[in-house]
Amino acid sequence: MKHCQPRSARVSHTHHIPLSALRRVAINNDLPPALPLRDTLNRPLRDLRISITDRCNFRCTYCMPRERFGHSHPFLPRGSLLSFEEIARLARVFAGLGVEKIRLTGGEPLLRKDVHKLVAMLAGIPGLELTLTTNAALLSRQAQALKDAGLNRITVSLDSLDEATFRQMSDSDFSLSEVLQGIEAADKAGFKALKINMVVKRGVNDEGILDMVRHFRHSGHVLRFIEYMDVGETNAWRLNDVVSASEILARVHAGFPLEPLEANYPGEVARRWRFADGAGEIGVIASVTQAFCGSCTRLRLSPEGKLFTCLFATQGHDLMPRLRSGESDAALAGWVGGIWAARQDRYSELRNQAQLGDSGEKIEMSYIGG
Ligand code: SAM
Ligand code: SF4
Ligand code: SF4
Repeated sequence: MKHCQPRSARVSHTHHIPLSALRRVAINNDLPPALPLRDTLNRPLRDLRISITDRCNFRCTYCMPRERFGHSHPFLPRGSLLSFEEIARLARVFAGLGVEKIRLTGGEPLLRKDVHKLVAMLAGIPGLELTLTTNAALLSRQAQALKDAGLNRITVSLDSLDEATFRQMSDSDFSLSEVLQGIEAADKAGFKALKINMVVKRGVNDEGILDMVRHFRHSGHVLRFIEYMDVGETNAWRLNDVVSASEILARVHAGFPLEPLEANYPGEVARRWRFADGAGEIGVIASVTQAFCGSCTRLRLSPEGKLFTCLFATQGHDLMPRLRSGESDAALAGWVGGIWAARQDRYSELRNQAQLGDSGEKIEMSYIGG
């Protein structure tokens, strides 16, 4: 049986730093790396996604299928997780390396006790946009505390407005109304223009695309359709289950005419469209059919302190021993800078060019976050 989360044996401790990178980046000494930091494909480091737990109160069939994430699943022991203080320290180091946006994710980030306290610690770092992705089941009771703590934006994952389909996809005891209450509470707490992520799976929830559009038009929130991805090793992904972004757009456009919008910023993963009648905007994230590796500026930090340079990575880089052995911030920055400088990942592009070899087991989305 395949393991569902990376083992320490699969962690890479060595890095092959290209000469060009060595000229710019100081490794393991107290000199901070030169900025802007660029990887081998000239992509800057801008975004950090921090997965703060690998546990979840849902068992979405495309992410944590219950038969693979049951009672006996070896979730990370709580004592092995990065503490809030360690996360905040690392966030400062990353901000110094050019990171402008941090997204807290998981697993389900609202399951981590007192997550608003972590938000408050991160909100104090100048120049950072702070966001969080959640299934919203616990959002109604936490939204105000998150707002007060300084969280800037929230993304909510919601795949259907039909109770039966919602329950089938989320495979949880939570009801659709609890998620909708969470969205309402976030709105009331002052989070505007929530992003609502819908993963579209053919034959499962694609008939509900227009219901979602009708519901979120005029709401001020931005509905985003996500192509079902081949992340991890447990969801039995098949290309036939993917509804392409162009098909999704055609279906929406047939009901509610759309006009293209410019990206908000370079490297934005969603392509934006607005309703011609002014009812708001939607986005499509075409990670499968229109890969966007060329502008991928994202680095990922796992709950127990491993860095992953791609959502489809098979190996992480373990920060924990360095963090806990008293290395200085500058030395940590130099090490991370070396990892970024050596980065070559472009999994989705290679998948589309059918150039992927079998490089090992991919990490799970519930472990590393979306
Ligand atoms: N639990 C939180 C949530 O669901 O919002 C945060 C973590 S979840 C892994 C982050 C995002 O990944 C969600 O929007 C989810 O829909 C998306 N996701 C998970 N598995 C996916 C897959 N196979 N393809 C596309 N998106 C996926
Ligand atoms: Fe949990 Fe989010 Fe994965 Fe669903 S998508 S199982 S809510 S981590
Ligand atoms: Fe970035 Fe990897 Fe996704 Fe490409 S496949 S966009 S490199 S995370």
